[in-house]
Amino acid sequence: MSNTNGNGTIKGITPRIGFYICHCGHNIAAMVDVEKVQKFVASLPGVVVSRDYKYMCSDPGQELVQKDIKELKLNRIVVASCSPLLHEHTFRRAVEKAGLNPFFFHMVNIRENVSWVTDNREQATAKANALARAAIQRVFFHKSLETKKVPINPDVLIVGGGIAGIHAALTIANAGKHVYLVEREPTIGGHMAMFDKTFPTLDCAACILTPKMSSVKNHPNITLWTYSEVEKVEGFVGNYKVNIKRKPRYVIEELCVGCMDCIDACIYKEAKYPDEFNQGLSKRKPIYIPFPQATPQVVLFDPETCIDFKSHRCKKTCIEACDRKAIDLKQVPEYKEINVGTVILATGFKTYDAEKSPQYGYKKFPNVFTSLEIERIVNASGPTNGEVLTKEGNIPKSVGIIHCVGSRDEKAHKWCSRVCCMYSLKLAHLIKEHTGAEVYNFYIDMRTPGKGYEEFYDKLMNEGVHFVRGRVAEVTDWALIPEEEHKLTIRVEDTLIGVVRRIPVDMVVLAVGMEPREDAQDIRRMFNISCSTEGFFLERHPKLAPVSTFTDGIFIAGGCQGPRDIPDSVAQAGAAAAEALSLISAGSIELEPNTASIIESFCSGCKSCIPLCPYSAISFNEGTKKAVINEALCKGCGTCVAACPSGSIIQNLFEDEQIFSEIDGLLKFAGIELEEMEVVNA
Ligand SMILES: Cc1cc2nc3c(=O)[nH]c(=O)nc-3n(C[C@H](O)[C@H](O)[C@H](O)COP(=O)(O)OP(=O)(O)OC[C@H]3O[C@@H](n4cnc5c(N)ncnc54)[C@H](O)[C@@H]3O)c2cc1C
Repeated sequence: MSNTNGNGTIKGITPRIGFYICHCGHNIAAMVDVEKVQKFVASLPGVVVSRDYKYMCSDPGQELVQKDIKELKLNRIVVASCSPLLHEHTFRRAVEKAGLNPFFFHMVNIRENVSWVTDNREQATAKANALARAAIQRVFFHKSLETKKVPINPDVLIVGGGIAGIHAALTIANAGKHVYLVEREPTIGGHMAMFDKTFPTLDCAACILTPKMSSVKNHPNITLWTYSEVEKVEGFVGNYKVNIKRKPRYVIEELCVGCMDCIDACIYKEAKYPDEFNQGLSKRKPIYIPFPQATPQVVLFDPETCIDFKSHRCKKTCIEACDRKAIDLKQVPEYKEINVGTVILATGFKTYDAEKSPQYGYKKFPNVFTSLEIERIVNASGPTNGEVLTKEGNIPKSVGIIHCVGSRDEKAHKWCSRVCCMYSLKLAHLIKEHTGAEVYNFYIDMRTPGKGYEEFYDKLMNEGVHFVRGRVAEVTDWALIPEEEHKLTIRVEDTLIGVVRRIPVDMVVLAVGMEPREDAQDIRRMFNISCSTEGFFLERHPKLAPVSTFTDGIFIAGGCQGPRDIPDSVAQAGAAAAEALSLISAGSIELEPNTASIIESFCSGCKSCIPLCPYSAISFNEGTKKAVINEALCKGCGTCVAACPSGSIIQNLFEDEQIFSEIDGLLKFAGIELEEMEVVNA
C-alpha cells in the first residue's frame, strides 16, 4: 500500500518527518547498528532528517528534535528508543514545546522489543529497520488531538479502617481535605487493635493506635462510617459517585455514649456467644462493644443472637436501662450517596485458615492455637486477662511455635508472609515473659529484614529461646514415653544436625500467614482494579507506581496489596495519601486522547460493545438507540473497536489507516504488499 499520493502528500499535507534513533548508551547500540538504521530511514519518502544520538531522552537529545522542528519545519516526529511507558511523555512534551501538536509524535521501542531480546546483531538491525519504517508510514496518518481536563473533586473515600486506612485518613484530613472513612466492622483498628505489643520495639499496640483512632473519630475533616460497606461505585478519576450501606446497629449512634448500662441490663446475665474480637476464645452478650477502646464507643445489637429479634419475647430490659433513649430496635439500613475524586483501598488481609493444614492438629488438639489467638491471650484486655494457660488451666512448661503455616508451602501459598518470623519472635518473648516456659521456634529460614529486626532476633537468642531449623512434619498426641503423656509432640527434621526430632510440648502456636480477604475479588470488580495471581490488589508498577492501580484515582495501601508489617503499611498509606493529595492540589487531570468514539450514523444499537468494556465506559442512549462512550472512563484498550460488528467505533491514535499503514511498513520487509484498502473515514 502506498501511504502518500503520487506527489508525497496526504490529504493535502506534505509530511516532513524527523527520525531519531537513540543509542541508549550500549543498551541499543551494542545490538542494533544504529547508523545503518538511521541511513535506511533517511531514504524513506517523507523523511526530511534522520539522526542517531547517544541519549535521546537527555536535554541535548530533546533540544535536537526541537531545533529541527523549528528550522526544518518538521510536522511529524518518530523516535526509536526505549519503551513508550518510560519516555513517550518526555518526547511529547518536547515536541509540544517546539510548537507541534504532541500527537504528531510516535515512539518505536527498539530496546525492550529488539536489542534486549536477541543476541543476533544482524537480525536486530533488520527488525529495527522494519519497525522504524512501519512507524514512518504510520505517523503520516497521525492527527492533531487535544487532551481534555476534568476537575478533581477534593473529597476522598478510604475503604478500610485498619492502621493503613487510619493513617491515610489522618494525613489527608490534616492537609485540610475531607475524608469519608468506611469500615465494615463496628469499630476501626483492624488487626493492630488485637495485638498487645508490636515488634521489634515491643511497644504497646493500644498506646500507639488508640490516640490515632480517637483522632479519626474527632477530626472535623473526617466522616467516619463504621459497620458500613461500599455497595456501588460509578464514575471516573476526579468524579466518583459511591453508594454506601450503613448496617443497623439498633442503637442511635449520636445518642449512645457507650455507658454499657444496656449490656448490664440484658436478660442474658451471662455472655453466651463467641466473641469475634477475641477469636471466639471468650463470650459476649447479644448487645456488646467489641473491645474497650473500640471506636466509636457505641454498642451494637447482634440480631442473630438477640432474643427480641428471634422470638419478640424479650422483656426489653435494655431499652428501659438506656436513659438516653438510644436504642431503636426498628432501625433499618441507611443508604448514603457521596461524590469523591479519589479512593484509597485499605481493606487489609486475613490470616490463613490453619484447619487447611490438618497435620498441625488445629481444632483437633485443644492446645494448638493460631498466632492471632495467642495475640489475644497474651493481651491484658484479652479473654484470659493476659494469662497464658493450657486448655486444662495449667501454665505451659514448653511451647512450640511453628513458622510458615500456610506460607512458603506448595500445598497452601507459595509466598512468604513477611511478618510471621518477626511476630513469632515477639510471641516467643511474650510467652516466655508470661510463663517462663521453654519456647521452641520451628523455622525454615529466619527472615528479619527491617530496622532493628535482626537485633530483635539476637535478643531472643540471648533470652534462651530455642530455634530448630526444619519444616515441621506433624503435631501428634502420641506418647512414646511416660513423660510425653498429656503433651503434644512436634516431629521435625532438624536440618542443621540432620536428624528427625520429636519434641514434646504443652502448647503449640501456629504462625499463620497472610492471605487476601474472601471478598478481594468483589472489591476488585467494584473499583475496576486488578488482582495479582495471589489475589492481592495489584499495583500499577511495583517500583514506579507502588500504590497506584490501573484505574486512575484509585490507590491501595497496606495488607490488601500483599503481606506487610505495620511500618510498611503506614509508609504505603502515607504514599497513597500523597498521591491523592497531589491529584487534588492539581485541581484537574488531563485525560489521554487515545479514547474510542462512536460514529453514530453507523451504530446499529446492537449493544455488543457494552458488556465487553472492562472500564464500564459504554452505555446505551435509549433516546437515540445508540451506544455512547464516556471519554473520561475510556482507557483506549480497543476492545470495543475490535468487537463492533458494524465498524462504527474508532479510536484516536489507533485508526484503521494508521494501523494498516504500520502493518504495511512491516510487511514490506517480508516482500508482502498490503492491498490498497478502503479506510473508514470519520
Ligand atoms: C498474628 C499477627 C501479628 C502481627 N504482629 C505485628 C507486629 O507486631 N508488628 C507489625 O509491624 N506487624 C504485625 N503484624 C502485621 C499487621 O497486622 C499488618 O501489617 C497490619 O495490620 C496491616 O494493616 P492494614 O490496615 O493494611 O490491614 P488490617 O489490619 O487488616 O485492616 C483492614 C481493615 O479494613 C476493614 N475492611 C476489610 N474489608 C472491608 C470492606 N470491604 N469495607 C470496609 N472495610 C473493610 C477491616 O475490617 C479492617 O478493619 C502482625 C500480623 C499478624 C497476622
